[in-house]
Amino acid sequence: MNENVDLRASAESPLPASHGEGTGRILLAAPRGYCAGVDRAVDVVEKALELYGAPVYVRKEIVHNKFVVESLTKRGAIFVQETDEVPEGARVVFSAHGVSPAVHAAAATRHLATIDATCPLVTKVHREAVRFAKEDYDIVLVGHQGHEEVEGTFGEAPDHIQVVGTPDEVDNVVVRDPSRVVWISQTTLSVDETRETVDRLRQRFPQLIDPPSDDICYATQNRQVAVKHIAPQVDVMVVVGSANSSNSVRLVEVALEAGAGAAYRVDKAEELEPSWFEGTRTVGLTSGASVPEILVREVIEWLQDRGFPTVEVARTETESTTFALPRDLRADLKKAGMAPARPHAPRVAGPNHTK
Ligand code: SF4
Repeated sequence: MNENVDLRASAESPLPASHGEGTGRILLAAPRGYCAGVDRAVDVVEKALELYGAPVYVRKEIVHNKFVVESLTKRGAIFVQETDEVPEGARVVFSAHGVSPAVHAAAATRHLATIDATCPLVTKVHREAVRFAKEDYDIVLVGHQGHEEVEGTFGEAPDHIQVVGTPDEVDNVVVRDPSRVVWISQTTLSVDETRETVDRLRQRFPQLIDPPSDDICYATQNRQVAVKHIAPQVDVMVVVGSANSSNSVRLVEVALEAGAGAAYRVDKAEELEPSWFEGTRTVGLTSGASVPEILVREVIEWLQDRGFPTVEVARTETESTTFALPRDLRADLKKAGMAPARPHAPRVAGPNHTK
């Protein structure tokens, strides 16, 4: 693997020219790929390596993408499962998915220097959990049991939170006072399935309180809308993303529900099977929020070499959200006279992009 690959290359950069033979086409969803939280988290590790030097420890996968983790490992990041694997006093980055207060406490007892790359939109959900727990509500956290983000949010108020993964699990919810129940959610869920779960909750608890604003983040929603838009026009949808990436897996489900003939998730082009595309005229293509654009470009080239020379972009939204680096890291960069956060150039549609 090329260690110098630009993990943060923009999905807006011009697409490769049409090449290859055949009459098939690729319908490319936009927006796709990196969200602002992932972009920032990857930037945090890159900047920490540059500033402090290797190794930089990272608790859990910084984002759920194999290629990103392998690439940062080559540059000197060491990924661990828990803070007790980090040498006393060393530096550790917390991933974009967020951590519970217990993890912060464990890091403090080992005198670790922490850099928190938790996405600000996950932090927002943590704050909601803390606030509702303080007000003594029963909190239903809609999300996937065992997912790191859910573990982090749950850890903010374990005595007040119950996790519900599917509409059917609503039947198991037990509350103290049906008039004081609030729901919050993981940021990367299926919008439609979450609505179903919340409808079921409301049937049981008519006074159910909504979170102050959507917890399913803008990036998750935008990628699902883009996939829904193209799904009815495609024979096969390819979603680039890792198996443990919640939002990538949701995109496969959303594509099938919205009418794609078939849908496959792959980590990279090498996993594609020619048999999936037999008799196919239009292939839909998208990627999860933790997927570097280079992996999408490799899938495009693979398809172009196999009868799908043309690429059309179907854009449903233009995103401009960016997040600044964590404050302490920014301060250290400034002290060292190093460039501040490198936000991407404004995401302007290139000549190959259509609305
Ligand atoms: S998917 Fe949403 S919540 Fe998760 S890192 Fe990206 S912007 Fe943040």
